[in-house]
Amino acid sequence: MIAVEAGLYIGSVSDLNDVQALTEAGITHILTVDSEEPSVSGFQTKFVRVLDDPSTDLLSKLDDCIRFIEDALNAAGCKPSSVLVHCHVGQSRSAAVVTAYLMKVQKLTVHDAYSRLQGLKPDVNMNEAFLDQLALYESMNCELDANSPLYKQFRLRKVTEKFPELQNVPKEVFAADPAQTQNAEVVYRCRKCRRVVFRCSSILSHSVGCGPSAFSHKRPSGGLPANADQTECTSYFIEPVQWMEEVLLGVMDGQLLCPKCNSKLGSFNWYGEQCSCGRWVTPAFQMHKNRVDAIKHIDIATLK
Ligand SMILES: [Zn+2]
Ligand SMILES: [Zn+2]
Repeated sequence: MIAVEAGLYIGSVSDLNDVQALTEAGITHILTVDSEEPSVSGFQTKFVRVLDDPSTDLLSKLDDCIRFIEDALNAAGCKPSSVLVHCHVGQSRSAAVVTAYLMKVQKLTVHDAYSRLQGLKPDVNMNEAFLDQLALYESMNCELDANSPLYKQFRLRKVTEKFPELQNVPKEVFAADPAQTQNAEVVYRCRKCRRVVFRCSSILSHSVGCGPSAFSHKRPSGGLPANADQTECTSYFIEPVQWMEEVLLGVMDGQLLCPKCNSKLGSFNWYGEQCSCGRWVTPAFQMHKNRVDAIKHIDIATLK
C-alpha cells in the first residue's frame, strides 16, 4: 500500500489483510476495482467490477469511482478519513482510477498524472486500453459527457466487442429518429424524398459545424468555404439512428437506404470503414454527403 497524496492510498487485494497497516494509515474507505468483491468489514466500501482486459469499459465508471474517493476524503467525522483504492495486484486497474483522480482533481494531463503515480509506485503498469480511455477522459475535461462524439464512438466500439454477433444490441445505442421528434437542431434529409434521416448532433467525426457553416453551399459565391479543410471527406460518419435498427442488427455490413424512398444514402460496417480522406472509423455508419441536405429547423411535419 502506497500513499499517493494525503489520505489517498493505492494497493493490492493482499493489503486488505494487513490490518495494522490499514489502521496506521487511518483507512476508513475502500474502493475495489476488481473482478471479485472482497469481504471486508468495518470500512465504507465500494465495489466496481472491472476486468483488467482491453475490452473493459473503465471510462464509463470513472466519474463514479472519483466521486467515491472525493466523498471519502471530504467525509466529516471525528477522525480524518483515508481511502484505499485497490485492484488485484495494484498495477493496472487501481492505477487507472488513481490516475484519473489526479487528472480531475489536480488538473493534470494523463501523461503528467500517470508519471506522478509511476514516480511514487514504480511497479504500476496500466494496460494500454486504459491509457487510451484516460486520454479520452482528458479530452472530455474529466467529466463523462454522453453527447461527446468521441464518447459515442467509444461506446459504439464497445458494443461491437461486447456483442460480436450484433444481436441484442442495447436500444440506447440508436439515436432517436429525427423524423419522429422535433428539435431546434440542424437536421439532414434525403435529397430525393426529403425524409429527415439524422441530426447534426449524430455526426461523430469529420463534423461540420452545427451553425451557419453547415450551409456553406448556400452562401453567396466568393465567400470562403467554411469547411475547406474537410473537403476530402465525402461522407458524414454518424451514430446509428432508430430507423436503421432493422438493417443493422445481426448484420456486419451493408447499405443504408432511405427509410422512405429506398434510395441509397450510404453504408455501414460494424468493424469499420475507411473515409475518403483516408481515416478509419470504427464502427462506421456513413451517409454520402451528396445524398443528403442539411436543413435548419422547420416544421418537420411538412416533410413527411
Ligand atoms: Zn428518401
Ligand atoms: Zn474523412
